[in-house]
Amino acid sequence: MPASPFIIVAIDGGAASGKSTSARILSERFNLLHVDTGSFYRAVTADLLRRGVAPADLPAVKTALASLKLGTRLNGRSAQMEVDGRVLEEEIRSRAVNENVSHFAAIPELRTALLAYQRGLADVARDHHFRGLVMEGRDIGSVIFPNADFRFFLQADPAERARRRASEGQQDSIAERDRLDSSRKTSPLTCPPGATSLDTTHLTLDQVVERLAGPIAARLAAA
Ligand code: C5P
Repeated sequence: MPASPFIIVAIDGGAASGKSTSARILSERFNLLHVDTGSFYRAVTADLLRRGVAPADLPAVKTALASLKLGTRLNGRSAQMEVDGRVLEEEIRSRAVNENVSHFAAIPELRTALLAYQRGLADVARDHHFRGLVMEGRDIGSVIFPNADFRFFLQADPAERARRRASEGQQDSIAERDRLDSSRKTSPLTCPPGATSLDTTHLTLDQVVERLAGPIAARLAAA
């Protein structure tokens, strides 16, 4: 019997568009390694802020990036980034990180520093016998895995997204982050040509998951 194919699922979209919850559910359903790349940008941001580096100080950012030591730890089906051997947890959701992450994420050198790391997680998934990888972020289907088997782009009304974040008890400047993420020059948040766009404003979580899971299940059944 031929080995089942290794599949890569890319999910992009703005803050609170429904990416994380649906990516987690898909990872369980299809035995995929779950990768939340927003948590990587957050972890690097938390580390740089701890070192006293401001996003406007490019020379200091470059110096800090040169000594960045990244690793990976698996937590169930999720890949967590280690910075200097530590997984940063609560601090990556702090107000300071919310306010600074999009400024750091707009720096091309910082994005380059994370590019190979993110692509390398496909090998981590293979080595750990996952059936594939589901990676969520802003530029997964456009830059990290433009040839992914599935590329989804989730959208939702800003008011609905703000309501979702508030119901999680989080203070988050999502409109400002989206503005910065969409307008930056390097890897802006945009639905790449050929990706499947889905407006989740009026959909339940189950409905979102079914729309994403349907084509994946069909592909795997045909393999
Ligand atoms: O997904 P989350 O909202 O946690 O992402 C935090 C920030 O990280 C985003 O607002 C964006 O600035 C940055 N990011 C990015 N590219 C990705 C994932 C996240 O620029 N692939």
